[in-house]
Amino acid sequence: MGEFTIKAYNDFLAENKIMGSKCKGCGAVHLPPRPVCNECGGRDLEWTELKGAGTIRAYTVINVPLTRLKDRCPYAVGVVELEGGPSISGMVLGVSDGDQISVGTRVEGEFVKEGERTVLCFRPF
Ligand SMILES: [Zn+2]
Repeated sequence: MGEFTIKAYNDFLAENKIMGSKCKGCGAVHLPPRPVCNECGGRDLEWTELKGAGTIRAYTVINVPLTRLKDRCPYAVGVVELEGGPSISGMVLGVSDGDQISVGTRVEGEFVKEGERTVLCFRPF
């Protein structure tokens, strides 16, 4: 299924798939995928599909956005621990102030088109 690159990761996102790399040695899952295991240094990894469901572990609410995001402002960016292990940061949609989410809030992945790209965002549920 190809190399463990950011490009491959983004190509899978365009197909609405969240694909990470899983170490066959220790079972650690890396997202975005990495060719070498962070935990044990192993180089024998395989693709694994992750569900978008997860839990917010950290977040911040952005009030001064990047230009390309100004119509979404304010928005939150969170570090989400996905079911299956890995954590990844992403925009948390539908949040206009910090009272609406907290550490421990359950979120669901959502694939958002940004021009040619697809980015993984999250939405509380
Ligand atoms: Zn490993």
